[in-house]
Amino acid sequence: MAGGRNVLRKLIIEARVNEFMLRSQGNPHVPYTPEEITRDAVACRDAGAAILHFHARKPDGAPEHDTKSYAETVRRIRAASDILVHPTLGYVTLDEGPERRLSHILEMAKDPAGSPHFAPADMGSVNVDRYNEQARRFETTNLIYKNSTETLTYFTREIRAAGLKPYLVSWTIGFTRYIDAFMTMGLIDEPAYICFCLTDNTWLGGHPGTLRGLQAHLDFLPKDKAVEWTVVNFGGNLFALAGAIIQLGGHISIGLGDYAYPELGQPTNAELVRRIATLARELGREIATPEEAKTILGMEGKSRAGMAA
Ligand code: ZN
Repeated sequence: MAGGRNVLRKLIIEARVNEFMLRSQGNPHVPYTPEEITRDAVACRDAGAAILHFHARKPDGAPEHDTKSYAETVRRIRAASDILVHPTLGYVTLDEGPERRLSHILEMAKDPAGSPHFAPADMGSVNVDRYNEQARRFETTNLIYKNSTETLTYFTREIRAAGLKPYLVSWTIGFTRYIDAFMTMGLIDEPAYICFCLTDNTWLGGHPGTLRGLQAHLDFLPKDKAVEWTVVNFGGNLFALAGAIIQLGGHISIGLGDYAYPELGQPTNAELVRRIATLARELGREIATPEEAKTILGMEGKSRAGMAA
């Protein structure tokens, strides 16, 4: 696939299918097992998604940390679809050392048929206790998503060495400034792919899911470096912002992992992706295929997964 302006202007849609969301939290379509996640991957690709983000889960929805489950899921997805795969590191393992947190990704990257394309690095630390507004209290009081500078140096070096694209998550402006510094230090290649993790309702650690919350991030993007950015609204509805993101040249990351979307009935992940794709086309922006997303993100010829595909 050749590059060029038309490809660069296309919208990358990422489906964030499950995170740690439970079906009992409002939407029965949250996928848990490798089979269910793969089914969603295929449906979301058909609807316009170029990237799939997932967390391995046990059949009852509990988090699954076993490398085998991650590897099985990635192999299944890649056998069924050309969608680009982005597994989590998982913040529940945050008390483990950086080697343990990244180990399942590095293990999978050795397998050409089972390698993911991205590995996430949240470029700073943040409190991730859930706030219950009605009860006026936090449900937990000691959950810190802890990523020291040393850990981030290790992550970015190892992710590059494994031939994967770092998926750089920014919760607040300080994270974005870290990304700028890591690019200056030569630890992150251009174009950087930055995900602004806006947070709403029960989550207070990020900027709010509003235009001003997003604009504050954009004001602090590295000025002299190539960057592509996408937006998540963790805990809230992303549609109010979607039109602005599409017109400002960003990309969109959406799914039932972040929010159950009760306003829309009980949509599936693919239905959310299809709505975004329709909105983008109405606003004059075409949707990137997985191959085109690789061009936009500078992943051609770099990733082992790409070469094997
Ligand atoms: Zn995630």
